[in-house]
Amino acid sequence: MDIRIRQLGKRFGDFAALDGVSLDIRSGELLALLGPSGSGKTTLLRAIAGLEQPEQGRVLFDGEDATGLSVQARRAGFVFQHYALFKHMDVRRNIAFGLEVRRGGERWPKARIAARVEELLALVQLDGLGGRYPTQLSGGQRQRVALARALAIEPRVLLLDEPFGALDAQVRRDLRRWLRELHDRTGLTTVFVTHDQEEALELADRVAILNRGRIEQVGTPAEVYDRPASPFVYGFVGEANRLPARVRGDGLEVAGAQWPLPATLPAAGELEVYVRPEDMRADAAGDWAGTVLSVQRSGARTRLRARLHEAAVDVEVELPPDAPAYAAGQPIALAARRHGVFPAT
Ligand code: ATP
Repeated sequence: MDIRIRQLGKRFGDFAALDGVSLDIRSGELLALLGPSGSGKTTLLRAIAGLEQPEQGRVLFDGEDATGLSVQARRAGFVFQHYALFKHMDVRRNIAFGLEVRRGGERWPKARIAARVEELLALVQLDGLGGRYPTQLSGGQRQRVALARALAIEPRVLLLDEPFGALDAQVRRDLRRWLRELHDRTGLTTVFVTHDQEEALELADRVAILNRGRIEQVGTPAEVYDRPASPFVYGFVGEANRLPARVRGDGLEVAGAQWPLPATLPAAGELEVYVRPEDMRADAAGDWAGTVLSVQRSGARTRLRARLHEAAVDVEVELPPDAPAYAAGQPIALAARRHGVFPAT
């Protein structure tokens, strides 16, 4: 099922949690909602689910207006970070819950429910654990039960709110890979909230980046990383050096270096050029002359800090593995491999 979100607005008092959000989620894709705390990710997910009533805008499921539909009628499956399982029920009953509460003609016969539960136990790789209680499971196993419970009702869309947020790093990484495989097998349209950029970039087909209740950019992980649409995205997905820039004559002056004028330029007077540390490179014929301030190695990565003389700005440079050794105080010439130009903030 595809989901179209049109101009959604949701306020809490004076505060706009969603400020005119429009987004197209394609059928069968795994889309991550990525943004800092308070940017509106959960509110957007809840509005898709029908748990939150927006004051403005519409949500369309397969072209049909779902804005007025109840949570049940939307048939969304949820998993939340702290969506506690029912402690007094074993894993099987937890998974069956959504099917057992159905009434009348909707209700499946017992044998069908039991068969569906066994099928789901196998799908989330918990065969043989159906008789356990939640306290007898690890955190990762509990979240897989929560996922099986969400899938039991054969949802049209799966909505996940930081489902692995409370787990430790290794378990989180394993579950991420597992979720990706599960998604590829079920082909279910899935929306996934996270504030962890690595998680979003690794897991999602596309990423929507939220900031202050607005969408800054939607694109594949490669698009948002390689071509950030705004200074916010540059800083939030990865890191960036900010260099002062201005139009001078028929060129662009960037931290004292003269570049040709780009084909398109923001209309503002004061500009800034953004360059990622890994897009800075040492180059004897480079644009900027500087001095190495410090060199820091962390695992496989070596980062160098340098001061550019002309503009007196400090930059971070990620050195390639085969780079020569640098020492503080040494002169260095630098160039940018890739950059973005934005109005100065
Ligand atoms: P986090 O990563 O911290 O969960 P988020 O991006 O999911 O953040 P939301 O939970 O959507 O952000 O909240 C967006 C903003 O709306 C926050 O500033 C939050 O305090 C506010 N907000 C959310 N729900 C309510 C509520 N029920 N009443 C008042 N304010 C709310």
